[in-house]
Amino acid sequence: MSSKKKSKIYIIDTSAILSGIPINFDDAAMVTTSSISMELKPGGRDYRAFQFLIEKGLSILSPSKKSRDAVNSTSRKTGDEDRLSKADVDVLALALDMKLDDGKDAVILTDDYSIQNVADALDMKFGNIGQPKITKRFKWGYQCLGCGKKFKENIKICPICGAATKNIILDGKDIKRRKR
Ligand SMILES: [Zn+2]
Repeated sequence: MSSKKKSKIYIIDTSAILSGIPINFDDAAMVTTSSISMELKPGGRDYRAFQFLIEKGLSILSPSKKSRDAVNSTSRKTGDEDRLSKADVDVLALALDMKLDDGKDAVILTDDYSIQNVADALDMKFGNIGQPKITKRFKWGYQCLGCGKKFKENIKICPICGAATKNIILDGKDIKRRKR
């Protein structure tokens, strides 16, 4: 146990683990979820990167059901529901637990745009690893390839003309810059 109290906490997803970039552990704690650890098969470079992080102090925790429910209801509103894996939901929910229950300065490290989008909608901080961060909070929708009608709901076949739909971004709000 470290005698220094760590208030900053990074919640990392698979993209952060696989990036292999050095993360500064000195001023922050790092956690991930058991569902992420199960995505990585023993053996191979990815698993070794994961083992390295565990040796460096990465903890594996499970999120509360309450936070999972909050993430699921928010991702339904932003249209990210179908884009988030169970492991993605767990990362967001764990970050929410850290922020709400422990009052920690929780930052999600991920390159996944849907995780970033939902994090912003939940007023949570996120940082990227390799890709540029999203600058707009977006809302996914669907547009008919036949008649062009737009839908907020996940509609695969247009009820008006019967053509298939495609994923589109309905609108984007600028993300407010936050101090980290
Ligand atoms: Zn149509």
